[in-house]
Amino acid sequence: MTDFSLHVEALKKVQELRLRTDKLDKEIAKIPKAIDEEKRTVDGFKEQADDAKHELLKAKASITDLESQVKAKLDYIEKLKVSLYTVKDNQTYKKTQEEIEHNERAISDIETKILEAIERMESKNAELLSAESSLAEKQALHDDFISKKNRDLAELEKAKAAFIAEIEKYEVAVEKGLLDRFNRLRTMRGGTGLAFAQPEPDYWVCGNCQVQLTHQEISLLLLQRQICTCQACGVIMVIENDLYHRHEEAMKKKRK
Ligand SMILES: [Zn+2]
Repeated sequence: MTDFSLHVEALKKVQELRLRTDKLDKEIAKIPKAIDEEKRTVDGFKEQADDAKHELLKAKASITDLESQVKAKLDYIEKLKVSLYTVKDNQTYKKTQEEIEHNERAISDIETKILEAIERMESKNAELLSAESSLAEKQALHDDFISKKNRDLAELEKAKAAFIAEIEKYEVAVEKGLLDRFNRLRTMRGGTGLAFAQPEPDYWVCGNCQVQLTHQEISLLLLQRQICTCQACGVIMVIENDLYHRHEEAMKKKRK
């Protein structure tokens, strides 16, 4: 019979390094997301500035338009006033006077609208300035942010490459069938291909799924003459013989 203990020792290292590599992969995946988020923030400020600029121009155009309306009415009033000099009858005089007053009231309404448009223009101008200064601030930090993220990425990739090289060293020591099974399990179970038996006061459980192990399973695990898997979750099961004996001794002392 084969002694699998050395294979299992190597596989334990492979699993440990794989789990650390998985963690690095998660960190690596965060970097483009962080860069994207940063870009979205910058775009958000740009959009705010563009919107404010657009509204500002609209307010300015409406002021120009209202002012020309006022001017047209003033011209018209002027004409009406001139016409009053030549009016012959009282009725026309009265009607013209009324029309002048009507136009003066209209001008007063338009002037209220102009004041409102000026207020709008000023508030949009303040919005524009604030968005532009936020944007400038972000953009000044942007290059630093991106180069820091790229440095982080390079460091993580380097660490990962070192882990992979180490993994490959250990994988050579693992029998191929066992390694394939381990890798299949890892893919299926989100990273865990191998689990340790863990002691409870009166029995042992699978470290992955916590299901209780039978005495027979424990004996097989201790022999390390064959590869055992958890009957419940299917991972390759390993027991640390030292831990087992220490735990059993402790339990024996306790029972005495
Ligand atoms: Zn299990």
